Amino acid sequence: MSESMVSKLSKRVGEAVKGRVRSKVSDEKWLPEGYEVRKGQMGFIEEASKAIKNNEVFLGSAPCGIGKSLASLLAVLPQLGANKLLICFRTRSQLNIYLKELKALGRNPSAVSFFSKQDMCPLRIKGNFSYFDFLEECRRLKDNCESSNKPYCKFYWNINRKKKEAEELALDCTRKVLAPREAVRRMSKHGFCAYEALKRVLDRVDIFLGTYHYVFNPQVRDALLKSFGVDLSNVYLIVDEAHNLPAFSRELLSDRLTQNTVEGALKETEMFEHEALPSVRECLNVLNEEVFQRAQEILEREGLKPLNPQEVSDLFLDQGGVSGSEAAEILHEYGEHVRETRRELGYEKIFSYNHRVGEFMMNFFEKVGTKYIHLIEREWRDRTLLEVRSFDGREITDPVLRQARGSILMSGFLSPPKVYRDLMLYDQSGVYLKEFDSPFPPENRLILAADDVSSRFEKRTNKMLEKWKDYVEAISEVNEGNMAVFFTSYELMHTVLPLIKTDRKEIVERRKTKRGDVMEQLTRSADNVLFGVMGGKFSEGIDYPGNLLTCVVTVGLPYATWSVHQKALISYFNHQFPGKGRTYAYLTPAILRLIQTCGRVHRSANDKGCIVILDERVTRPSIKQQLPSYYQKEMKIVGSPISCAEQIKKFWEEQHRKL
Ligand code: SF4
Repeated sequence: MSESMVSKLSKRVGEAVKGRVRSKVSDEKWLPEGYEVRKGQMGFIEEASKAIKNNEVFLGSAPCGIGKSLASLLAVLPQLGANKLLICFRTRSQLNIYLKELKALGRNPSAVSFFSKQDMCPLRIKGNFSYFDFLEECRRLKDNCESSNKPYCKFYWNINRKKKEAEELALDCTRKVLAPREAVRRMSKHGFCAYEALKRVLDRVDIFLGTYHYVFNPQVRDALLKSFGVDLSNVYLIVDEAHNLPAFSRELLSDRLTQNTVEGALKETEMFEHEALPSVRECLNVLNEEVFQRAQEILEREGLKPLNPQEVSDLFLDQGGVSGSEAAEILHEYGEHVRETRRELGYEKIFSYNHRVGEFMMNFFEKVGTKYIHLIEREWRDRTLLEVRSFDGREITDPVLRQARGSILMSGFLSPPKVYRDLMLYDQSGVYLKEFDSPFPPENRLILAADDVSSRFEKRTNKMLEKWKDYVEAISEVNEGNMAVFFTSYELMHTVLPLIKTDRKEIVERRKTKRGDVMEQLTRSADNVLFGVMGGKFSEGIDYPGNLLTCVVTVGLPYATWSVHQKALISYFNHQFPGKGRTYAYLTPAILRLIQTCGRVHRSANDKGCIVILDERVTRPSIKQQLPSYYQKEMKIVGSPISCAEQIKKFWEEQHRKL
């Protein structure tokens, strides 16, 4: 880009990195048209630039409104050089923000963004296909292009036939920074498969955007880096919504099997002959009868029980004469045979239940030791699951974050950042932690915490229910605009709800309540009260634009349900981080849920409103210090519903005076 935004910025950031400039940025000309410099944004750019220049991992907790997507791009792009940038996120909605910022910055550098291959396939091979079956079918259709057999994939065939045209078109998509759907539309209009064509030009592209899987799943990452033509040391990394990464990486190392899959495997043995069939059936029967059916008898709904993998292995030995690992191999091998037979017979779907059961059992018996727990669970909808769960995802995250040329991890909810650092990296060196305050005017918000209520189990008396009711009613009287009350669980919500009487129109979150319907009602009038749960669909990942909510009340601290898994996780973390097990495993996720819920009110600099936390525990120093720093600074303590209402009334009077 001649005289481009990026080169101007490069100079600006370069100077900042050298420590020469830290001027006012309000008159900066380098931002894309229509953008305003936000409080904290320049700070983010400078600090992150410095960190990645020094090969450090930058971990930034930056609340909503800082403009961290743009800031992270502006921290990396000026020093990109011949290196590449990988941007990853948990949810697809984040992708659109990055694409918008990249387009605003100009036509260069080039970028490719991927959803999954199945999502980008113009043949729409979806229906009942599992992802595995889709990949197999895609491979078959591609192979048939080479051998001129039918059926074949015309979109792939065209790429091979008109290589140059496909390549030019793909490169044009990368220069235009198209979203996956736009690229698919454009490429398929010309008869090409966007996924395959873009993959072939990846080595000439500067930026790749995709979900966490592309970066943290080792096999997927290796394939991506190969096409990208680099190794991690030539890659800058931006991880958005990074508060999700510890759980995501643990999930990658975990595995689960449902009873339905085992039943499917048993049915499969009726369809595919093999000399090992008696042993296969024997192994499946042990699993079905001795593990799953036994669990159905002894576990209540939502019950969870730890299992000793050695004892499970002994069941196979006692009844089938083979160990658990040998049983896994028998099922896996038979599964291979089923897949091969299906392939030879031209089945559309070549998925094998036995293959899946065998694969799970290998994981179940191989993933042992202090980092794992083995469980059997009966869910609320009566599904039974056998699981191996990982406690520690650092073997996934640490090597990637360390090997990358520079990593920026960011989120509005990394509170406190050092806990997330410890959950993602093995040691503290080379990590730059930074917590930013909310860029929104503090006078637009009132943060209150009540010190006479608590959701601690032993305190949940009728008197406490009455107090919560009094708080909600008092707040409802004085708050101006729609309010929401979020509880720690549906159970608690339905216990308190019948007691509460307000003049507002009530909306109650149920499993089937649709977001669109609720938004419509909140838009129609300002006298609604929404009742829901923390961690639910109305308290996370949802915006209430235009100040649709002016008050959020949280009832209790949203700790996870106490279980054997929770206990074991605390004990594991206590071992890894002496004395901090409870904080890392139990308190931090609760604070995350709480802050995400409270964050629904202020979504822009103009939003005004109140946050009321009805649990005295957040006023205690040990818990208060886990909150974002601006909460710690601004939070006022109230001791009764009356004083709470007075504060809110005063807040709104103040807002009117300013008008
Ligand atoms: S090559 Fe592309 S278009 Fe063809 S089946 Fe595979 S994903 Fe679909």
